[in-house]
Amino acid sequence: MTGAPLILYNSLTRASETFVPLDPGNVRVYSCGPTVYHYAHVGNLRAYVFTDTLTRTIAWKGWPLTHVVNITDVGHLTSDADAGDDKMEAAARATGRDIWAIARHYTDAFKQNLTDLNIRTPTHMPLATDHVAEMIAWGEKIAERHCYRLADGLYFDTTTVPDYGRLAGAADDAAHARIDAVAGKRHPQDFAIWRTTPPGETRQMEWDSPWGRGAPGWHLECSVMSAKYLGPAFDIHTGGIDHREIHHPNEIAQNQAHCECADTGATFWMHNNFLVDRTGKMSKSSGEFLTLPALGARGFHPLAYRLMCLQAHYRSELEFSWENLAAAQVRLKRWVHAVEGLRLRAGDESGAISASYVEQLDAAISDDLATPRALPVLDAMLADKKLSPATRLATLAEFDRVLGLELAEATRAALRTRPAGVAIEPAAIQEQLAARKAARADRDFVRSDAIRDALLAAGVDVMDGDPLGWDWKLPG
Ligand code: AMP
Ligand code: ZN
Repeated sequence: MTGAPLILYNSLTRASETFVPLDPGNVRVYSCGPTVYHYAHVGNLRAYVFTDTLTRTIAWKGWPLTHVVNITDVGHLTSDADAGDDKMEAAARATGRDIWAIARHYTDAFKQNLTDLNIRTPTHMPLATDHVAEMIAWGEKIAERHCYRLADGLYFDTTTVPDYGRLAGAADDAAHARIDAVAGKRHPQDFAIWRTTPPGETRQMEWDSPWGRGAPGWHLECSVMSAKYLGPAFDIHTGGIDHREIHHPNEIAQNQAHCECADTGATFWMHNNFLVDRTGKMSKSSGEFLTLPALGARGFHPLAYRLMCLQAHYRSELEFSWENLAAAQVRLKRWVHAVEGLRLRAGDESGAISASYVEQLDAAISDDLATPRALPVLDAMLADKKLSPATRLATLAEFDRVLGLELAEATRAALRTRPAGVAIEPAAIQEQLAARKAARADRDFVRSDAIRDALLAAGVDVMDGDPLGWDWKLPG
């Protein structure tokens, strides 16, 4: 490990703690993955920008890493507890499509989101449906001492493990007041390990089990897959803040029942706060919601969204607004412009990394991933005339490794996102601009204005004398 000690906030102890890996040769991180009944909304993606910052930091500090992000393709009900319908089955019924095709489609779309956001590919992305046999085996092991049967399945008795709900803490009561009642449950917080398909009904996804034909409860998959890929004791478990109340306490309870001990599975439980959208466009149930491609259609590059996330601390609520996103995009473009200038000036020269700026980056990121503090360090470094352009570029590469903004490779051309509805191609725009420049050189202002008007009609704004050197832009 290099640099400052890594301090992380642990939801389990409600304290900032120095991170010490269980095995420094292999740091093990599990992140609750998406439920693939629909596209990920940009709020979901904030969770993976956070985990990417975490795992990049761990790797940057020199620890080898295994990172698992599961794909939930069965079991997640419309309520986080045991009420409602399976989200996957409901989506299949509503669209009349094959449930497996739905899962594949949205899994692929999610992976594309990760690529677009420059999120590193996790070591494993296991599917819940590939682990049903292991889930049944886990259920069989804990059934006798920790579970009870109801007509609709096998339920976990949360009073059979020590300290149930420690993770949820004070929020416990409020969260459980929201759990819809299932008739016969011994305690409101008890949850399903297996859900038996009601007589007369069929599900597209169902399996035989000792508790009848049906499907696993949602929480079980994460206990099973984290133990399988990372071992029963691993370093860090992540998820959105909503998981602190129900899903993660339930995982811990299953882990404790399985080991017949008080171990929680992960040592650190970390939670990102929500991206909130006061316009209400982010909830999938509202029908229309914000996806990464939807931002692209408005002219916003995925990395502008990534930067918008990094501008807030992962434990703070972040409000989505187009203004915020536009400001992040301008900041990104300004950096890319500066870096292009440095690249020109550095030529073939190679530079040494500035130890002082790397130290400042390290100090910020090691303090519970304080990305909002790391970004001004990047500003200062790029503008530091005491450093040669080659040194600044070499130092930039370190920032890129941690922040994943790809500034060292980005070009202004690559950052240009064409809003939907703009048909003209960038090459044609450049051609027209060259013609307009020639017309202006000839003092043929009639022609130059005509070209400008034609571009405007095609949705392109010509920007004369833009200080950042952007000679045209598409409406955002
Ligand atoms: P889901 O696809 O619903 O299983 O959620 C995937 C991940 O996104 C989970 O870690 C959630 O906790 C997280 N999440 C859901 N909504 C938001 C949001 N608005 N902001 C940040 N994270 C979220
Ligand atoms: Zn999970």
